Amino acid sequence: MKQGTLCVQGGWQPKKGEPRQVPVCQSTTFRYETSEQMARLFDLEDSGYFYTRLQNPTNDAVAAKIAALEGGTAAMLTSSGQAATFYAILNLCEAGDHFISTCNIYGGTYNLFAVTLRKMGISCTFVDPEATDEEIGRAFRPETKCVFGETISNPSCSVLDIERFARLAHSRGIPLIVDNTFATPVNCRPIDWGADIVTHSTTKYMDGHAAALGGCIVDSGRFDWTASAEKFPGLCQPDASYHGLCYATAFGPAAYITKATAQLMRDLGSTQSPQNAFLLNLGLETLHLRVERHCANAQRVAEFLSAHPRIGWVRYPGLTGDKSHALARKYLPKGSCGVLALGLKGTRQDATRFMDSLELISIVTHVADARSCVLHPASHTHRQLSDEQLREAGVAPDLIRLSVGIEDVEDIIADLSQALARL
Ligand SMILES: *Cc1c(COP(=O)(O)O)cnc(C)c1O
Repeated sequence: MKQGTLCVQGGWQPKKGEPRQVPVCQSTTFRYETSEQMARLFDLEDSGYFYTRLQNPTNDAVAAKIAALEGGTAAMLTSSGQAATFYAILNLCEAGDHFISTCNIYGGTYNLFAVTLRKMGISCTFVDPEATDEEIGRAFRPETKCVFGETISNPSCSVLDIERFARLAHSRGIPLIVDNTFATPVNCRPIDWGADIVTHSTTKYMDGHAAALGGCIVDSGRFDWTASAEKFPGLCQPDASYHGLCYATAFGPAAYITKATAQLMRDLGSTQSPQNAFLLNLGLETLHLRVERHCANAQRVAEFLSAHPRIGWVRYPGLTGDKSHALARKYLPKGSCGVLALGLKGTRQDATRFMDSLELISIVTHVADARSCVLHPASHTHRQLSDEQLREAGVAPDLIRLSVGIEDVEDIIADLSQALARL
């Protein structure tokens, strides 16, 4: 099936007399007939549902759709994008370990890596994605367990050279994790370019209606953990909390996602509610249509803004002069996303006045949904970062993040135009 068909029909194939739509299994627990049946589930000897913190049929159907869209073997839904990123790293790293991330990432992810994981003894080195191979190579250490980047960075809209980062990681025997939230699998499948693990904030385009918080981790099933067994004891040595089971030998290409479910979800419990998974699936059914419209609208808006005399700069990978344009043509030939970054000619107060003058486009802490919205990261999402950290995260103090929705583009441009005229 092609991407559009998977969006509509992937993940859930009802049999005779079963509901056409994915049913919401609003149940914490599942019944068995013998004690022995239940025991086998706890030993991971049989597969089946027993408690929704670990697995739920609604969540599994939606996760299977996302895994198919990304070209992975299996996927796990999480309660938020933050939980997905946290688990993706924690499934590979423990206290004393280290990993590498590009510096221009989502503010919440930056905090998680720079502050919270550090307190847990897991350290991160941030690298400039435009640095040379040698410069990035210097960040690797014997205890480095993975490399992380975003297909399209939030909010700076830079495109990751996925093949290059996969090569840098693989040549050291470690996997590449890519956050594919902004591109979505409709526009880019990082696994096709060498990524091993893909993460999502499904809160954004996948849900697409600002209705349900959620996240997802997709396992490509391609990384050979046993080839670097000494680096990944959690996957290649017996798990004492599962009677000495070894994930890599017992589950092969599903080792990573099985460990994330059986161990991390069991112990930490950031499960997505089945009701949210149902809403997410409704969003996924139109993802391919919405993403196409988001991209078409954003391209028109980016062209309008870059020609406007009050605009200082615009970053959108679809603009021919953009510094990510060549990478976008390679990795995102159908379009990038609906998000663009811009700076006005003028002061910080002008930025505030511009945003306050918008009528159709609202100021919200959100991005990538059907309704157009704006945010000033330096005063909102990224306000806890210092000026230096801001610059490192690719966030200029004057950067305004505009998330172009799927309204009629003439109305979006008219709103921007009237707000700019008031400056
Ligand atoms: C929003 C976002 C996240 C965090 O997701 P939540 O669902 O808000 O927890 C992670 N990565 C990117 C790129 C995001 O845009």
